[in-house]
Amino acid sequence: MTLHVYNTLTRRKEPFEPLVPGKVGMYVCGPTVYDYIHIGNARPLIFFDVVYRYLLHLGYDVRYVQNFTDVDDKLIRRSEETGLSVPEIADRFIAAFYEDAKGLKIRPVTVNPRVTETMPDIIRFIRDLEAKGFAYEKEGDVFFRTSRFESYGKLSCQNLEELQFGKRIEVDPRKEHPLDFVLWKAAKPGEICWDSPWGKGRPGWHIECSTMVRRHLGETIDIHGGGHDLQFPHHECEIAQSEALHGKPLAKYWMHNGYIQIENEKMSKSLGNVVLVREMRARYKPEAIRFFMLSSHYRSPLNFSEEVMNQAEQSVARLENCAVGLGHRKRVATETGVSPEGERVLARVEEILREFHAKMQDDFNTPDAITAMFGLVSEANQYLQREVAEIPVLNRLQEALKEMDGILGIVPEAEEPLLDEEIERLIAERTEARRAKDWARADAIRNLLLERGILLEDTPQGVRWRRK
Ligand SMILES: [Zn+2]
Repeated sequence: MTLHVYNTLTRRKEPFEPLVPGKVGMYVCGPTVYDYIHIGNARPLIFFDVVYRYLLHLGYDVRYVQNFTDVDDKLIRRSEETGLSVPEIADRFIAAFYEDAKGLKIRPVTVNPRVTETMPDIIRFIRDLEAKGFAYEKEGDVFFRTSRFESYGKLSCQNLEELQFGKRIEVDPRKEHPLDFVLWKAAKPGEICWDSPWGKGRPGWHIECSTMVRRHLGETIDIHGGGHDLQFPHHECEIAQSEALHGKPLAKYWMHNGYIQIENEKMSKSLGNVVLVREMRARYKPEAIRFFMLSSHYRSPLNFSEEVMNQAEQSVARLENCAVGLGHRKRVATETGVSPEGERVLARVEEILREFHAKMQDDFNTPDAITAMFGLVSEANQYLQREVAEIPVLNRLQEALKEMDGILGIVPEAEEPLLDEEIERLIAERTEARRAKDWARADAIRNLLLERGILLEDTPQGVRWRRK
Protein backbone atom coordinates (compact mmCIF):
# COMPACT_ATOMS: atom_id res chain seq x y z
CA MET A 1 0.00 0.00 0.00
CA THR A 2 1.24 3.46 -0.77
CA LEU A 3 -0.40 6.72 0.04
CA HIS A 4 -2.01 8.43 -2.94
CA VAL A 5 -3.19 12.03 -2.85
CA TYR A 6 -5.28 14.00 -5.28
CA ASN A 7 -3.19 16.89 -6.56
CA THR A 8 -5.24 19.93 -7.60
CA LEU A 9 -2.34 21.02 -9.78
CA THR A 10 -2.44 17.94 -12.01
CA ARG A 11 -6.10 17.01 -11.40
CA ARG A 12 -4.97 13.44 -10.66
CA LYS A 13 -4.36 11.08 -7.76
CA GLU A 14 -0.62 10.63 -7.45
CA PRO A 15 1.58 8.41 -5.28
CA PHE A 16 2.87 10.45 -2.37
CA GLU A 17 6.65 10.76 -2.52
CA PRO A 18 8.08 13.54 -0.37
CA LEU A 19 11.04 15.58 -1.63
CA VAL A 20 13.26 14.27 1.17
CA PRO A 21 12.55 10.63 2.07
CA GLY A 22 10.97 10.32 5.50
CA LYS A 23 10.28 14.04 5.89
CA VAL A 24 7.20 16.10 5.05
CA GLY A 25 6.87 19.88 4.93
CA MET A 26 3.25 20.96 4.97
CA TYR A 27 1.65 24.40 4.91
CA VAL A 28 -2.05 25.14 5.34
CA CYS A 29 -3.44 28.68 5.11
CA GLY A 30 -4.78 29.73 8.49
CA PRO A 31 -7.44 32.15 9.66
CA THR A 32 -7.61 35.94 9.67
CA VAL A 33 -7.89 36.59 13.38
CA TYR A 34 -10.53 39.34 13.55
CA ASP A 35 -13.38 37.14 14.83
CA TYR A 36 -14.20 33.69 16.23
CA ILE A 37 -13.68 30.85 13.78
CA HIS A 38 -16.75 29.33 12.11
CA ILE A 39 -17.66 25.94 10.75
CA GLY A 40 -16.10 26.84 7.37
CA ASN A 41 -12.72 27.33 9.09
CA ALA A 42 -13.20 24.13 11.05
CA ARG A 43 -13.32 21.89 7.99
CA PRO A 44 -9.71 22.42 6.82
CA LEU A 45 -8.64 22.51 10.45
CA ILE A 46 -10.06 19.04 11.11
CA PHE A 47 -9.26 17.51 7.73
CA PHE A 48 -5.61 18.60 7.68
CA ASP A 49 -5.33 17.51 11.31
CA VAL A 50 -6.24 14.02 10.08
CA VAL A 51 -3.69 14.31 7.24
CA TYR A 52 -1.08 15.34 9.82
CA ARG A 53 -1.99 12.48 12.17
CA TYR A 54 -1.92 9.99 9.30
CA LEU A 55 1.47 11.11 8.02
CA LEU A 56 2.81 10.78 11.57
CA HIS A 57 1.23 7.33 11.78
CA LEU A 58 3.08 6.36 8.59
CA GLY A 59 6.29 7.35 10.36
CA TYR A 60 7.04 10.63 8.58
CA ASP A 61 8.82 13.42 10.37
CA VAL A 62 6.26 16.16 9.64
CA ARG A 63 6.80 19.88 9.90
CA TYR A 64 3.35 21.48 9.75
CA VAL A 65 3.02 25.25 9.47
CA GLN A 66 -0.22 27.21 9.68
CA ASN A 67 -0.24 31.01 9.66
CA PHE A 68 -2.30 33.63 11.42
CA THR A 69 -3.18 36.69 9.33
CA ASP A 70 -2.94 39.23 12.14
CA VAL A 71 -3.04 42.45 10.13
CA ASP A 72 -5.39 43.21 7.21
CA ASP A 73 -8.41 45.32 6.26
CA LYS A 74 -10.80 43.31 8.45
CA LEU A 75 -8.64 43.70 11.53
CA ILE A 76 -8.25 47.42 10.87
CA ARG A 77 -12.01 47.83 10.47
CA ARG A 78 -12.64 45.86 13.66
CA SER A 79 -10.13 48.10 15.43
CA GLU A 80 -11.98 51.23 14.28
CA GLU A 81 -15.30 49.75 15.44
CA THR A 82 -14.12 48.65 18.87
CA GLY A 83 -11.41 51.15 19.79
CA LEU A 84 -9.06 48.24 20.49
CA SER A 85 -5.70 48.19 18.75
CA VAL A 86 -5.03 45.73 15.90
CA PRO A 87 -2.59 43.67 18.06
CA GLU A 88 -5.17 43.54 20.89
CA ILE A 89 -7.80 42.17 18.52
CA ALA A 90 -5.33 39.66 17.06
CA ASP A 91 -4.23 38.43 20.50
CA ARG A 92 -7.80 38.00 21.61
CA PHE A 93 -8.88 35.95 18.61
CA ILE A 94 -5.67 33.93 18.47
CA ALA A 95 -6.37 32.89 22.08
CA ALA A 96 -9.95 32.03 21.07
CA PHE A 97 -8.63 30.06 18.08
CA TYR A 98 -6.39 27.92 20.29
CA GLU A 99 -9.29 27.27 22.62
CA ASP A 100 -11.53 26.17 19.73
CA ALA A 101 -8.79 24.07 18.12
CA LYS A 102 -8.12 22.28 21.39
CA GLY A 103 -11.86 21.81 21.84
CA LEU A 104 -11.94 20.05 18.45
CA LYS A 105 -9.05 17.77 19.46
CA ILE A 106 -6.74 19.37 16.87
CA ARG A 107 -3.10 18.44 17.43
CA PRO A 108 -0.90 21.52 17.81
CA VAL A 109 1.03 22.23 14.60
CA THR A 110 4.80 22.83 14.47
CA VAL A 111 4.65 26.61 14.02
CA ASN A 112 1.90 29.24 13.82
CA PRO A 113 3.74 32.24 12.35
CA ARG A 114 2.14 35.69 12.39
CA VAL A 115 2.41 38.33 9.69
CA THR A 116 3.49 40.99 12.16
CA GLU A 117 6.44 38.83 13.23
CA THR A 118 7.50 38.16 9.63
CA MET A 119 7.71 41.76 8.39
CA PRO A 120 11.45 42.00 7.52
CA ASP A 121 11.25 38.76 5.51
CA ILE A 122 8.13 39.95 3.68
CA ILE A 123 9.77 43.25 2.73
CA ARG A 124 12.87 41.43 1.50
CA PHE A 125 10.72 39.06 -0.59
CA ILE A 126 8.99 42.00 -2.31
CA ARG A 127 12.30 43.81 -2.89
CA ASP A 128 13.73 40.69 -4.52
CA LEU A 129 10.67 40.40 -6.79
CA GLU A 130 11.07 44.06 -7.73
CA ALA A 131 14.76 43.57 -8.48
CA LYS A 132 13.90 40.72 -10.85
CA GLY A 133 11.26 42.77 -12.65
CA PHE A 134 8.27 40.91 -11.22
CA ALA A 135 6.98 43.86 -9.18
CA TYR A 136 6.45 47.59 -9.67
CA GLU A 137 5.65 50.47 -7.37
CA LYS A 138 2.90 53.08 -7.86
CA GLU A 139 2.31 55.79 -5.26
CA GLY A 140 3.53 53.70 -2.36
CA ASP A 141 1.67 50.55 -3.43
CA VAL A 142 3.60 47.65 -4.94
CA PHE A 143 1.99 45.30 -7.47
CA PHE A 144 2.94 41.91 -8.89
CA ARG A 145 3.42 41.96 -12.67
CA THR A 146 1.34 38.93 -13.73
CA SER A 147 2.14 39.40 -17.42
CA ARG A 148 5.76 38.41 -16.67
CA PHE A 149 4.80 35.14 -14.99
CA GLU A 150 3.73 32.89 -17.85
CA SER A 151 2.08 30.09 -15.91
CA TYR A 152 -0.24 32.38 -13.92
CA GLY A 153 -3.54 30.49 -13.72
CA LYS A 154 -2.09 26.97 -13.83
CA LEU A 155 -3.58 25.84 -10.50
CA SER A 156 -7.12 26.87 -11.30
CA CYS A 157 -6.51 25.80 -14.93
CA GLN A 158 -7.33 29.10 -16.52
CA ASN A 159 -5.34 31.44 -18.69
CA LEU A 160 -4.98 35.14 -18.09
CA GLU A 161 -7.78 36.08 -20.46
CA GLU A 162 -10.27 33.62 -18.95
CA LEU A 163 -9.41 34.77 -15.46
CA GLN A 164 -9.88 38.36 -16.44
CA PHE A 165 -13.34 37.81 -17.87
CA GLY A 166 -14.44 35.18 -15.41
CA LYS A 167 -13.96 37.17 -12.23
CA ARG A 168 -14.98 40.55 -10.99
CA ILE A 169 -11.81 42.54 -10.76
CA GLU A 170 -11.59 45.97 -9.28
CA VAL A 171 -10.41 48.55 -11.75
CA ASP A 172 -7.28 50.35 -10.68
CA PRO A 173 -5.76 52.58 -13.39
CA ARG A 174 -2.36 52.30 -11.73
CA LYS A 175 -2.16 48.57 -12.60
CA GLU A 176 -0.41 47.53 -15.80
CA HIS A 177 -2.77 44.56 -16.13
CA PRO A 178 -6.16 44.06 -14.40
CA LEU A 179 -4.96 40.80 -12.81
CA ASP A 180 -1.89 42.36 -11.19
CA PHE A 181 -2.28 42.08 -7.43
CA VAL A 182 -1.00 44.04 -4.48
CA LEU A 183 2.16 43.02 -2.62
CA TRP A 184 2.45 46.09 -0.42
CA LYS A 185 -0.23 48.61 0.50
CA ALA A 186 0.55 52.22 1.42
CA ALA A 187 -0.92 53.12 4.82
CA LYS A 188 -3.80 55.56 5.13
CA PRO A 189 -3.31 58.21 7.84
CA GLY A 190 -3.67 56.71 11.33
CA GLU A 191 -3.51 53.08 10.15
CA ILE A 192 -1.13 50.56 11.66
CA CYS A 193 1.98 50.48 9.45
CA TRP A 194 5.60 49.44 9.01
CA ASP A 195 8.53 51.24 7.36
CA SER A 196 9.56 49.94 3.95
CA PRO A 197 11.54 51.04 0.88
CA TRP A 198 8.19 52.21 -0.57
CA GLY A 199 7.15 54.24 2.47
CA LYS A 200 4.91 53.34 5.38
CA GLY A 201 2.47 50.52 4.73
CA ARG A 202 1.64 46.85 5.25
CA PRO A 203 1.77 43.67 3.16
CA GLY A 204 -0.97 42.36 0.89
CA TRP A 205 -2.48 39.02 1.87
CA HIS A 206 -0.86 36.62 -0.62
CA ILE A 207 2.75 37.61 0.04
CA GLU A 208 2.63 36.56 3.70
CA CYS A 209 2.12 32.89 2.79
CA SER A 210 4.91 32.81 0.18
CA THR A 211 7.24 34.37 2.73
CA MET A 212 6.25 32.14 5.63
CA VAL A 213 6.54 28.99 3.52
CA ARG A 214 10.10 29.94 2.60
CA ARG A 215 11.06 31.00 6.09
CA HIS A 216 9.66 27.97 7.93
CA LEU A 217 9.79 25.20 5.32
CA GLY A 218 11.97 26.21 2.36
CA GLU A 219 11.50 27.16 -1.28
CA THR A 220 9.65 23.98 -2.30
CA ILE A 221 7.39 22.09 0.07
CA ASP A 222 5.58 18.76 -0.12
CA ILE A 223 1.99 19.69 0.66
CA HIS A 224 0.21 23.02 0.41
CA GLY A 225 -3.39 22.93 1.58
CA GLY A 226 -6.43 25.06 2.16
CA GLY A 227 -10.09 25.50 1.32
CA HIS A 228 -11.31 25.15 -2.26
CA ASP A 229 -12.11 28.88 -2.39
CA LEU A 230 -8.43 29.74 -1.90
CA GLN A 231 -7.36 28.28 -5.26
CA PHE A 232 -8.01 31.55 -7.01
CA PRO A 233 -6.76 34.11 -6.49
CA HIS A 234 -4.88 33.33 -3.26
CA HIS A 235 -2.95 30.18 -4.15
CA GLU A 236 -2.48 31.25 -7.74
CA CYS A 237 -0.82 34.41 -6.42
CA GLU A 238 1.33 32.48 -3.93
CA ILE A 239 2.57 30.31 -6.82
CA ALA A 240 3.31 33.36 -8.96
CA GLN A 241 5.31 35.13 -6.23
CA SER A 242 7.32 32.11 -5.05
CA GLU A 243 7.95 30.51 -8.41
CA ALA A 244 8.85 33.81 -10.08
CA LEU A 245 11.46 34.46 -7.41
CA HIS A 246 12.87 30.97 -6.89
CA GLY A 247 12.43 29.44 -10.34
CA LYS A 248 11.14 26.19 -8.84
CA PRO A 249 7.77 24.78 -7.79
CA LEU A 250 6.25 26.14 -4.58
CA ALA A 251 4.60 22.84 -3.65
CA LYS A 252 4.61 19.31 -5.01
CA TYR A 253 1.05 18.48 -3.96
CA TRP A 254 -1.81 20.97 -3.69
CA MET A 255 -4.77 19.79 -1.63
CA HIS A 256 -8.10 21.58 -1.28
CA ASN A 257 -11.14 20.75 0.80
CA GLY A 258 -14.70 21.38 -0.41
CA TYR A 259 -17.07 24.01 0.92
CA ILE A 260 -19.76 23.77 3.61
CA GLN A 261 -23.42 24.69 3.33
CA ILE A 262 -25.80 25.37 6.19
CA GLU A 263 -29.16 23.61 5.80
CA ASN A 264 -28.56 23.61 2.01
CA GLU A 265 -27.80 27.32 1.86
CA LYS A 266 -24.58 29.17 1.34
CA MET A 267 -23.18 30.38 4.66
CA SER A 268 -22.85 34.16 4.82
CA LYS A 269 -23.02 37.01 7.27
CA SER A 270 -25.79 38.64 5.24
CA LEU A 271 -27.97 35.52 5.52
CA GLY A 272 -27.24 35.44 9.24
CA ASN A 273 -26.53 31.71 9.17
CA VAL A 274 -22.87 31.70 10.18
CA VAL A 275 -22.25 28.86 12.64
CA LEU A 276 -19.37 29.52 15.01
CA VAL A 277 -17.20 26.67 16.28
CA ARG A 278 -17.81 27.79 19.86
CA GLU A 279 -21.59 27.53 19.31
CA MET A 280 -21.15 24.04 17.89
CA ARG A 281 -18.92 23.04 20.78
CA ALA A 282 -21.55 24.15 23.28
CA ARG A 283 -24.09 21.83 21.66
CA TYR A 284 -22.16 18.83 20.38
CA LYS A 285 -19.31 16.60 21.45
CA PRO A 286 -16.01 17.39 19.70
CA GLU A 287 -15.97 13.82 18.40
CA ALA A 288 -19.41 14.33 16.83
CA ILE A 289 -18.21 17.50 15.08
CA ARG A 290 -15.15 15.63 13.77
CA PHE A 291 -17.34 12.69 12.75
CA PHE A 292 -19.61 15.03 10.78
CA MET A 293 -16.64 16.61 8.98
CA LEU A 294 -14.99 13.26 8.20
CA SER A 295 -18.10 11.33 7.20
CA SER A 296 -17.99 12.94 3.74
CA HIS A 297 -14.97 12.91 1.45
CA TYR A 298 -12.91 16.04 1.98
CA ARG A 299 -13.21 17.15 -1.63
CA SER A 300 -17.03 16.88 -1.61
CA PRO A 301 -19.30 19.67 -0.45
CA LEU A 302 -20.68 19.16 3.04
CA ASN A 303 -24.10 20.14 4.34
CA PHE A 304 -24.56 21.04 7.99
CA SER A 305 -27.95 20.39 9.58
CA GLU A 306 -29.39 19.55 12.97
CA GLU A 307 -30.33 16.16 11.61
CA VAL A 308 -26.84 15.13 10.48
CA MET A 309 -25.40 16.38 13.76
CA ASN A 310 -27.87 14.28 15.72
CA GLN A 311 -26.89 11.27 13.63
CA ALA A 312 -23.23 12.07 14.26
CA GLU A 313 -23.91 12.15 18.01
CA GLN A 314 -25.55 8.73 17.80
CA SER A 315 -22.70 7.29 15.75
CA VAL A 316 -20.01 8.45 18.17
CA ALA A 317 -22.11 7.12 21.06
CA ARG A 318 -21.94 3.68 19.40
CA LEU A 319 -18.16 3.99 19.20
CA GLU A 320 -18.00 5.06 22.83
CA ASN A 321 -20.20 2.16 23.99
CA CYS A 322 -17.99 -0.29 22.18
CA ALA A 323 -14.83 1.17 23.75
CA VAL A 324 -16.46 1.13 27.19
CA GLY A 325 -17.72 -2.44 26.69
CA LEU A 326 -14.24 -3.67 25.76
CA GLY A 327 -12.73 -1.89 28.76
CA HIS A 328 -15.24 -3.32 31.25
CA ARG A 329 -14.94 -6.81 29.90
CA LYS A 330 -11.16 -6.68 30.03
CA ARG A 331 -11.20 -5.75 33.69
CA VAL A 332 -13.08 -8.93 34.59
CA ALA A 333 -11.68 -11.33 31.95
CA THR A 334 -9.47 -14.20 33.09
CA GLU A 335 -9.19 -16.44 30.01
CA THR A 336 -5.71 -16.13 28.47
CA GLY A 337 -6.08 -18.79 25.77
CA VAL A 338 -7.63 -18.25 22.33
CA SER A 339 -10.41 -20.49 21.01
CA PRO A 340 -10.98 -21.14 17.27
CA GLU A 341 -13.74 -18.50 17.36
CA GLY A 342 -11.26 -16.13 18.99
CA GLU A 343 -8.78 -16.88 16.17
CA ARG A 344 -11.45 -16.04 13.63
CA VAL A 345 -12.08 -12.69 15.32
CA LEU A 346 -8.35 -11.94 15.43
CA ALA A 347 -8.01 -12.62 11.70
CA ARG A 348 -11.03 -10.41 11.03
CA VAL A 349 -9.48 -7.55 13.03
CA GLU A 350 -6.37 -7.63 10.82
CA GLU A 351 -8.55 -7.63 7.71
CA ILE A 352 -10.50 -4.60 8.97
CA LEU A 353 -7.31 -2.72 9.81
CA ARG A 354 -5.95 -3.38 6.32
CA GLU A 355 -9.20 -2.13 4.85
CA PHE A 356 -9.09 0.99 7.03
CA HIS A 357 -5.57 1.86 5.92
CA ALA A 358 -6.29 1.08 2.27
CA LYS A 359 -9.09 3.65 2.40
CA MET A 360 -6.97 6.23 4.22
CA GLN A 361 -4.19 5.76 1.67
CA ASP A 362 -6.63 6.29 -1.17
CA ASP A 363 -6.59 10.09 -0.95
CA PHE A 364 -7.77 10.12 2.68
CA ASN A 365 -11.11 8.46 2.05
CA THR A 366 -12.33 9.01 5.61
CA PRO A 367 -16.01 8.03 4.99
CA ASP A 368 -14.95 4.54 3.88
CA ALA A 369 -12.35 4.34 6.66
CA ILE A 370 -15.15 5.11 9.15
CA THR A 371 -17.21 2.29 7.60
CA ALA A 372 -14.30 -0.08 8.25
CA MET A 373 -14.16 1.20 11.84
CA PHE A 374 -17.82 0.35 12.31
CA GLY A 375 -17.08 -3.12 10.94
CA LEU A 376 -14.76 -3.53 13.89
CA VAL A 377 -17.44 -2.22 16.25
CA SER A 378 -19.93 -4.87 15.01
CA GLU A 379 -17.31 -7.58 15.39
CA ALA A 380 -16.45 -6.40 18.91
CA ASN A 381 -20.09 -6.10 19.99
CA GLN A 382 -20.80 -9.64 18.82
CA TYR A 383 -17.75 -10.92 20.61
CA LEU A 384 -18.81 -9.18 23.82
CA GLN A 385 -22.06 -11.18 23.78
CA ARG A 386 -20.09 -14.37 24.34
CA GLU A 387 -20.07 -15.95 27.75
CA VAL A 388 -16.29 -16.20 27.84
CA ALA A 389 -14.18 -13.38 26.45
CA GLU A 390 -10.47 -14.06 25.92
CA ILE A 391 -7.92 -11.47 26.99
CA PRO A 392 -5.75 -11.62 23.81
CA VAL A 393 -8.82 -11.04 21.64
CA LEU A 394 -10.11 -8.19 23.81
CA ASN A 395 -6.65 -6.62 23.72
CA ARG A 396 -6.41 -6.76 19.95
CA LEU A 397 -9.92 -5.36 19.46
CA GLN A 398 -9.08 -2.53 21.82
CA GLU A 399 -5.73 -1.79 20.14
CA ALA A 400 -7.30 -1.75 16.67
CA LEU A 401 -9.99 0.68 17.78
CA LYS A 402 -7.34 2.91 19.37
CA GLU A 403 -5.16 2.82 16.26
CA MET A 404 -8.02 4.01 14.05
CA ASP A 405 -9.15 6.58 16.58
CA GLY A 406 -5.60 7.89 16.94
CA ILE A 407 -6.00 9.03 13.32
CA LEU A 408 -9.64 10.15 13.20
CA GLY A 409 -10.25 11.28 16.81
CA ILE A 410 -13.94 10.34 16.84
CA VAL A 411 -14.30 8.05 19.87
CA PRO A 412 -15.47 10.01 22.94
CA GLU A 413 -13.48 9.36 26.05
CA ALA A 414 -15.70 7.47 28.43
CA GLU A 415 -16.16 9.08 31.79
CA GLU A 416 -15.19 7.00 34.78
CA PRO A 417 -18.27 5.95 36.77
CA LEU A 418 -18.99 8.15 39.81
CA LEU A 419 -18.02 6.72 43.18
CA ASP A 420 -20.70 6.31 45.85
CA GLU A 421 -19.21 9.02 48.06
CA GLU A 422 -19.17 11.51 45.15
CA ILE A 423 -22.86 10.79 44.55
CA GLU A 424 -23.68 11.24 48.25
CA ARG A 425 -21.80 14.53 48.31
CA LEU A 426 -23.69 15.86 45.25
CA ILE A 427 -27.02 14.79 46.77
CA ALA A 428 -26.19 16.64 49.98
CA GLU A 429 -25.29 19.72 47.94
CA ARG A 430 -28.59 19.46 46.07
CA THR A 431 -30.57 19.16 49.32
CA GLU A 432 -28.79 22.26 50.60
CA ALA A 433 -29.57 24.15 47.35
CA ARG A 434 -33.26 23.21 47.65
CA ARG A 435 -33.36 24.41 51.23
CA ALA A 436 -31.90 27.74 50.05
CA LYS A 437 -34.50 27.78 47.24
CA ASP A 438 -31.68 27.78 44.64
CA TRP A 439 -33.75 25.72 42.19
CA ALA A 440 -31.40 26.29 39.28
CA ARG A 441 -28.48 24.79 41.18
CA ALA A 442 -30.61 21.91 42.45
CA ASP A 443 -31.77 21.10 38.92
CA ALA A 444 -28.25 21.38 37.56
CA ILE A 445 -27.03 18.78 40.05
CA ARG A 446 -29.93 16.49 39.27
CA ASN A 447 -29.17 16.74 35.54
CA LEU A 448 -25.48 16.19 36.09
CA LEU A 449 -26.22 13.01 38.01
CA LEU A 450 -28.72 11.93 35.37
CA GLU A 451 -26.12 12.38 32.66
CA ARG A 452 -23.80 10.14 34.61
CA GLY A 453 -26.51 7.49 34.89
CA ILE A 454 -27.69 8.20 38.45
CA LEU A 455 -31.44 8.41 39.05
CA LEU A 456 -32.75 10.31 42.10
CA GLU A 457 -35.99 9.65 43.88
CA ASP A 458 -37.35 12.07 46.48
CA THR A 459 -39.11 10.14 49.26
CA PRO A 460 -40.54 11.21 52.64
CA GLN A 461 -37.47 9.55 54.17
CA GLY A 462 -35.09 11.64 52.07
CA VAL A 463 -33.40 11.19 48.70
CA ARG A 464 -32.73 7.71 47.36
CA TRP A 465 -30.55 7.02 44.37
CA ARG A 466 -29.79 4.16 42.03
CA ARG A 467 -27.66 3.56 38.96
CA LYS A 468 -29.50 3.35 35.66
ZN1 LIG B 1 -2.10 31.27 2.11
